[in-house]
Amino acid sequence: MSSEAYDVVVIGSGPGGYVCAIRAAQLGLKTACVEKDNTLGGTCLNVGCIPSKALLSVSEKYEHAAHDFAGLGIDVGTPKIDLKRMMAHKDKVVAANTQGISFLFKKNKVDHLVGLGAIAGPNTVEITGKDGKKTVTAKNIVIATGSESTPLPGITVDEKQVVTSTGALSLPKVPATMAVIGGGVIGLEMGTVWQRLGTKVTVIEFMDRILPTMDMEISKEMKKILTKQGMEFKLATKVTKAETGKGKVTLTLEAAAGGNAEKMEVETVLLAIGRRAYTQGLGLDRAGVKVDNRGRVEIDDHFRTNVQNIYAIGDVVRGAMLAHKAEDEGVVVAEIIAGQSGHINYDAIPGVVYTFPEAASVGKTEEELKTQGIAYKAGKFPFMANGRARAMNATDGFVKILADAKTDRVLGCHIVGPEAGTLIAEVVSVIEFGGSAEDIARTCHAHPTLNEVVKEAALAVDGRPIHI
Ligand SMILES: Cc1cc2nc3c(=O)[nH]c(=O)nc-3n(C[C@H](O)[C@H](O)[C@H](O)COP(=O)(O)OP(=O)(O)OC[C@H]3O[C@@H](n4cnc5c(N)ncnc54)[C@H](O)[C@@H]3O)c2cc1C
Repeated sequence: MSSEAYDVVVIGSGPGGYVCAIRAAQLGLKTACVEKDNTLGGTCLNVGCIPSKALLSVSEKYEHAAHDFAGLGIDVGTPKIDLKRMMAHKDKVVAANTQGISFLFKKNKVDHLVGLGAIAGPNTVEITGKDGKKTVTAKNIVIATGSESTPLPGITVDEKQVVTSTGALSLPKVPATMAVIGGGVIGLEMGTVWQRLGTKVTVIEFMDRILPTMDMEISKEMKKILTKQGMEFKLATKVTKAETGKGKVTLTLEAAAGGNAEKMEVETVLLAIGRRAYTQGLGLDRAGVKVDNRGRVEIDDHFRTNVQNIYAIGDVVRGAMLAHKAEDEGVVVAEIIAGQSGHINYDAIPGVVYTFPEAASVGKTEEELKTQGIAYKAGKFPFMANGRARAMNATDGFVKILADAKTDRVLGCHIVGPEAGTLIAEVVSVIEFGGSAEDIARTCHAHPTLNEVVKEAALAVDGRPIHI
């Protein structure tokens, strides 16, 4: 049994954990990162953001080739999908990214400890790997163990016929039909991938709207656009049972409020009702670390748990379950441990849905502003009136900017449209700097770009858009 001493031991190598470890090492702290899986990078790099975007990107190209090219004067005949090669592309992208983290660990002198990490005491981490157990001491421990797919009573996941997002990233053939349980980001993104490849996709959502945490106008516009693309929606509906048979799954559905049961038969079911904090095997009880009523590690505003020198970040704590939120928390906690001060503006964390068109949001929704009694002005501008969007044949959607009625300070921005995830960055910066809609309106935007829609929406806040 060996026992090495570290300033910081991070448990989990997802975007929260690996970024925290690199930043701690940059600050001169002797750092190790413990990971139970074979590769580094966590959910995001292995079975989340990166592989899903690889499949979204390829399937989007296929969709355009199949349906849009002819109208633009490009004849390619009927394009065919080679699923094996498409999956090989995804696997190559994942491997390049996860190996990239190994390289960054070496470069920054972060020790990669392979095995399941458990907190054996306030300054001790026990690692159980293939070759047995080893213990290291740590002046500071950072829990970054992430999340897992939330189960649903009555539904047994086998990752073949009834899959989570992980199974949906590697289906061996294109199913004829798929029911997606949950109309959130992951359900819509993975549903979109398979729909583009030829699957008839039905999204079943408990709430009476899709994307329930986003601005209502975004939810409505996305439902309209996705319906046009062929996706079906059963809203205010719950799934109570899934029975797996040969080549089919029979779902039992009911109105969310209760009522007569209805059956639905599909080839594949994707369970995507959300994610929950993952702390199995971590030894939180033994260490006396408190969790909240949703199983998330409880922290204060400085990422400290109730046990001294144990911190937590990312999906395993409160807040948006997003890779960039986890990364930013990783940086800040490393800086706090190193004696610096750090801060995150949770009103300036963008969220993106990578369908086509994309949806992106930052800051307050109109519904939140109304509930909080904040007087605001809204400015909206459609992509239909933008020259570049027309040139690209991508005119669906709009940009909406919400600004304080008195001060004009930007409080939120909600976009459906081409490259929404990239366009939102401008408004994120403005919110971070405490800027106003007038600041955006007076900033020169290159022509012809999609960014001009953001500028016009800012002008619209003051009732003076030019191009509509
Ligand atoms: C299909 C899908 C698509 C997504 N797309 C996006 C997107 O486009 N953009 C975005 O921002 N977010 C996206 N997310 C969410 C994103 O993946 C997570 O928010 C992010 O990975 C959280 O980072 P994390 O570091 O907190 O945890 P994770 O990435 O979950 O990493 C935790 C790591 O800890 C390890 N671990 C757990 N317990 C132990 C232990 N006891 N010992 C050792 N190791 C342990 C796990 O094996 C894992 O590697 C997506 C998620 C999914 C599932």
